[in-house]
Amino acid sequence: MPWFHGKITREDAEALLMPREDGLFLVRESTNFPGDYALCVCFNGRVEHYRVIYKDSQLTIDEEEYFDTLSKLVEHYCLDADGLCTRLRINHHNHTHNHNHNNNNNNHLLDPKAFEEAGWVIRMSELKLGEVLGKGEFGDVVLGTYRGQKVAVKKLKDSNCKAAQDYLTEASLMTSLLHRNLVQLLGVVFDGPTICVVTEFMAKGSLVDYLRSRGRLHVTARDQIAFAADTCAGMAYLESRRVIHRDLAARNVLISEEGVAKVCDFGLAKDPSLGTEGGKFPIKWTAPEALRYSRFSNKSDMWSFGILLWEIYSFGRVPYPRIQLADVVKHVEKGYRMEAPEGCPPPIYEIMTQAWEISPEKRPTFAAVSAKLNHMRENHTD
Ligand code: ADP
Repeated sequence: MPWFHGKITREDAEALLMPREDGLFLVRESTNFPGDYALCVCFNGRVEHYRVIYKDSQLTIDEEEYFDTLSKLVEHYCLDADGLCTRLRINHHNHTHNHNHNNNNNNHLLDPKAFEEAGWVIRMSELKLGEVLGKGEFGDVVLGTYRGQKVAVKKLKDSNCKAAQDYLTEASLMTSLLHRNLVQLLGVVFDGPTICVVTEFMAKGSLVDYLRSRGRLHVTARDQIAFAADTCAGMAYLESRRVIHRDLAARNVLISEEGVAKVCDFGLAKDPSLGTEGGKFPIKWTAPEALRYSRFSNKSDMWSFGILLWEIYSFGRVPYPRIQLADVVKHVEKGYRMEAPEGCPPPIYEIMTQAWEISPEKRPTFAAVSAKLNHMRENHTD
């Protein structure tokens, strides 16, 4: 649901939608009426906000037409204005928020102005850059200082490429998400052709490197349950916000100075039409229905979470160690599942096997697993 923006303010919604064509829209969570939504639609150079009322497990705008889901509501108003100022238009090439008609000299599809107006822009002069922390898909990640605080700066040189768009889409999604177990966005820098995304600095690096470098001797059972519970809490928040990650894996979880695990690289940014091809696709982490039919959901994220648990309890091993990449799906669809890693507590392995149910509906929610893991964490004794 690229049009779903979660809990952004009325003003942010307007900033994101303002210079757009009639019918472009987004849905946000209502700030005035918790539990309700607001449908924000561009029309005649302004943005109309309609309250979407949640009543008896159904959604309605006019209390005449009722819908089970936001998607169905959107679908309906795409076909027919039915009392709204205009029919809704889904932009199939770009998400509503990365469509910029003000540009004249470059291919920025995502509007830097939207970040500016929403107060997310950081000036290059406010940043001090230091050592390289790692290499990402889009460019180097560099250590920086911003207002006396250590930050991570993801740098991207060529801001006109597809990668830059993915990068900014990820950032625009991050502006509406806030949780202790998600890597926090601090702002975006537009410096000539260079775009940087600034996030909180995670001193202990990625979870997979942490597990591998310290291993069985230094990573305790208490650490393992804490990493699992932290990651799951971040994912439960995304689930509650109806955000799908798509690329959950230990390499996309970072560890703070204090040892708190936080999820990064929220993958909604990835264009669903890219499908499952492409060399970098995380086959071993992806649920079968997502691989085969691009059916990504919070339940396909749950499958990946099961793999991530396996990574935690095997101290960072690569999943399905003895199976060729090309054969993984075939084996999994025949019912093959990884065994419990050595020393893995049975209740943890039980969560893995539930996460790897072939039918997505049978997999647990992140909320349910989060409750279990928190319980285990609280009752952990060394
Ligand atoms: P991408 O998703 O583009 O491949 P990542 O965000 O995973 O890139 O970053 C690549 C590497 O950079 C990570 O594995 C990690 O070592 C380092 N890194 C990324 N973000 C941070 C951060 N906030 N704090 C510390 N190190 C980071």
